[in-house]
Amino acid sequence: MNPNVLKAGLNALHYSGIGEAMAPMTRGLGVIFMMHHIRPATGAEFDPNGLLAITPDFLASAVGRVRQRGWDIVSMDEAVARLRAPEARTARPFAAFTIDDGYRDNLEHAYPVMKAADAPFTVYVSSALPDGGAELWWLSLQEIIARNDAIEMELDGVPQTIPCGTLAAKRAAWNQIYPILRHAPEDEQRTMTRALCARYGVSQKDICAEQAMSWDEVRTLARDPLVTIGGHTINHFAVSKLDPARASDEMDQGAARIAEETGARPKHFAYPYGDPGSAGPRDFDIAKSLGFESAVTTRKGMLADAHRDHLFALPRVALNGNLQSLHYLDVLLSGAPFYLFNGLRVFRPA
Ligand SMILES: [Zn+2]
Repeated sequence: MNPNVLKAGLNALHYSGIGEAMAPMTRGLGVIFMMHHIRPATGAEFDPNGLLAITPDFLASAVGRVRQRGWDIVSMDEAVARLRAPEARTARPFAAFTIDDGYRDNLEHAYPVMKAADAPFTVYVSSALPDGGAELWWLSLQEIIARNDAIEMELDGVPQTIPCGTLAAKRAAWNQIYPILRHAPEDEQRTMTRALCARYGVSQKDICAEQAMSWDEVRTLARDPLVTIGGHTINHFAVSKLDPARASDEMDQGAARIAEETGARPKHFAYPYGDPGSAGPRDFDIAKSLGFESAVTTRKGMLADAHRDHLFALPRVALNGNLQSLHYLDVLLSGAPFYLFNGLRVFRPA
């Protein structure tokens, strides 16, 4: 969705008071927040992945606001317990904070904030990040476009020159190339990214080393009872694009690596990308058959009673880098935007 349209919609719900008025009907039982990077603002002008980053200050104020509004902040274990059994619920709604992929800034910047607030959170780790071989292609693409004035690449078999010498051209180049890589079959996406990285001297290994936690760092988090380490595949593939055996292997072996390194096999899982094109009913069944207790998507929504029968396709709400303001958070907590988005219902089957 266009961020300006999204902001306009959220502002309308906020300033009209309609969001607050709808909350008793639209809020549901709770919410699972999704984050990726937590770090001070970089100030970079060309920052197409910026929506994935929030500042430690915003995280701290969000945690404070959620509690101030009477919500419980809970672990994924507790969220699942409350979904499963009405008797495990309190009168208060609950929020689970989750962070995807396994970036070092989670330890450096999110952990101190959550620790100071005594707030539980979950980090879903793709095992290739701490193993050092993750291909974080969206960061590679950003770096390639940022550093160059033009990109040569084949599009639909035709060699093209995509200019990216100015900020506007860089943004246009991103809007042209990113969807192609994002929607390509997984192996092709990685092959195309490797070719671009080779041509433009970008090292995916260096990007991974700079961005990802080491296993020692993952263990530092895992040792704290406030932190849950969840699975997120090995290679951050959209599992629905893989054949069933490979999808299952990615989900299973990513968790197995975490078990080897931390001593505990993850009970909770997040589908990489998590949209309908990246994780579907077949994958929900795989997650269940592998013994996970829950799995989260990026379908947008609050948690409803009906989700107790859909624990492997739970919706989440992004804490988006473009929406770092408490009045947006208040609107999200009302559940009203998702109620409208999901066709006038809190529960929408994934
Ligand atoms: Zn991810």
